[in-house]
Amino acid sequence: CGIVGILGSHEVAPILVEALKRLEYRGYDSAGIATINDKVLDRRRAVGKLVNLSDLLVHEPLAGKSGIGHTRWATHGAPTTSNAHPHMAGTVSVVHNGIIENFKELREELASHGMSFETETDTETVALLCQHYKNEGHASAEAARKTVERLDGAFALAFLFDGEEDLMIAARKGSPLAIGHGEGEMYVGSDAFALAPLTDQITYLEEGDFAILTRTSLQIWDSNGNQINREKRQIQLDA
Ligand code: GLU
Repeated sequence: CGIVGILGSHEVAPILVEALKRLEYRGYDSAGIATINDKVLDRRRAVGKLVNLSDLLVHEPLAGKSGIGHTRWATHGAPTTSNAHPHMAGTVSVVHNGIIENFKELREELASHGMSFETETDTETVALLCQHYKNEGHASAEAARKTVERLDGAFALAFLFDGEEDLMIAARKGSPLAIGHGEGEMYVGSDAFALAPLTDQITYLEEGDFAILTRTSLQIWDSNGNQINREKRQIQLDA
């Protein structure tokens, strides 16, 4: 139900949790974060309130300066730890708001390639499809682009990849997504309010947009596949 992502220059786990707290008002049943530390992706997830995730992180901390986070409002699959986001498949990690309408067809297709599923969610299909395209030899950003092209439904997505600390993919169709610009940092959030303590420099993605982020760059393609410039606005919100 809420997404945050940070390509940062500080330890990111506590900042992700703070940003998720600012999305609590949207409602959720579970939460999780994934970070890349020493090029390796890892995640922590917990059912219930964000304090459960915070407590877990005290006992099992996650280091790293790049990460994604999610508050989930389950649509497909019960609100359990294993169904909580981020979802992972091979080198791909993803958080998702919304619904992938054609996930059953995609699941069957992926099963025919020998891929197996660990969750009941529509979202896991996104991670597996992206890994499938990586297995075919596509670089991460291209694999994510090919994946998003295959998805029907309403979604906001953020991807992170094992071994790639300075790359995040964001895509929006039917669910809002804002990109925040920091000093040598880049952020993604379901809304600008989630990012307000980090930056007031916001680029709103529009319907069908696909974005490639690094700490110092933002490239956006529109729904026709044309690279475009979206305005960066200074927004006024109480941090
Ligand atoms: N459909 C996804 C799920 O059930 C995402 C739900 C959400 O927006 O939180 O896991």
